[in-house]
Amino acid sequence: MVASPPVKRVLVVGAGLAGAVFARELAENSDIQISVVDRSDHVAGNCHTHRDVQTGVMVHAYGPHIFHTSNAYVWSFVQRFAQMMPFTNRVKAHIDRGVFGLPINLHTINQFFGRSFNPQEAREFCASLAQAPKGEPANFEEQALALIGPELYEAFFYGYTRKQWGCEPVELPATLLQRLPLRFNYDDSYYADTWQAIPRDGYTQMVENILDHPSINLRLQCEFESSMADEYDHTCYTGPLDGYFDYQFGRLGYRTVFWERMEGRGDLQGNAVINYPGMDKAFTRIHEHKHFAPWEQHDHSVAFVEYSKETQAGDLPFYPKRLAADKQRLLQYRNLAEQTPGVSFLGRLGTYRYLDMHHVIGESLEVASQFLQAGRMPTFPNQER
Ligand code: UDP
Repeated sequence: MVASPPVKRVLVVGAGLAGAVFARELAENSDIQISVVDRSDHVAGNCHTHRDVQTGVMVHAYGPHIFHTSNAYVWSFVQRFAQMMPFTNRVKAHIDRGVFGLPINLHTINQFFGRSFNPQEAREFCASLAQAPKGEPANFEEQALALIGPELYEAFFYGYTRKQWGCEPVELPATLLQRLPLRFNYDDSYYADTWQAIPRDGYTQMVENILDHPSINLRLQCEFESSMADEYDHTCYTGPLDGYFDYQFGRLGYRTVFWERMEGRGDLQGNAVINYPGMDKAFTRIHEHKHFAPWEQHDHSVAFVEYSKETQAGDLPFYPKRLAADKQRLLQYRNLAEQTPGVSFLGRLGTYRYLDMHHVIGESLEVASQFLQAGRMPTFPNQER
């Protein structure tokens, strides 16, 4: 077997979490020189944070990001680059009948049905409402009906999912609902992970710290062109997979989100995130950002009313839809990528998967370690998610 020549220079496209973590791992554990390029004027991709000029509030520029993980390695990694402040996301749902806690927990069930069940009684009650399909639930709606029955589904999931994804919930995968816990106790934390936190000085500062290494050269406002790769032994691309191949098989479906800004004195809604699952409102949720930093004091407040729509050319891609047609197209892009030497794909956009921040960091650490051991890396990380 012919040994591969040693890798000396690597190009990382994208200074979001995927690219930054991958670059840092290579920089710390090898002599490789790494260039990171990003078309944007900031690092951190969609978890970018900045101080709002009018209010002084730390704003999550592309929507709320709450870091959560049960992976001790990932948790210790982020703590090296930021002071992580414990933060529990307690989401509320505003529906025509009132305001309820999400994810659905014992309080939600008791409040919604006007009951005072204990955990066992609530479990049995939900089981009696459940409409189990024959066999495994085949889609989001079947999964929801099998867990909580039609009333809770209609109140909290149907409208929100229609608005967020722009399609019927029967077209979406059952795994989407599995992101949310269903609880028969009064725990109303949105996530179930061991560690839940937000960096004190924001995600952008954290990613700047990750990229701050003598072997990493960062270039912002720098558009990637394929000819750039010629100067490097390997390219790790974390931008949109279809974009890398000039959309030659068509565009992979994404939802994008946009916001209306609200500003005022004091407290605007009393919580970080309130969801509006009803079809009577066109928006999905409102987030008020000073509540993401309870360790800070602000007299003024800023909130964003969030809407979702189909991504057009020029819009930022947010949520990979992964409908049947997208999956076929994805396969075409993946096959082409496998036949393209010298490039590998990482992160939410690079792999077209619905990944949380901790998934992205975990995969980048893993792939970097494979790369360092083998001198080459797989075209895609091998986990399905
Ligand atoms: N969802 C819902 N109602 C809600 C919140 C979530 O129906 O009030 C559904 C919706 O389909 C959403 C999915 O659950 O896409 C996952 O929600 P999650 O909060 O994980 O979405 P994200 O935080 O990524 O926006």
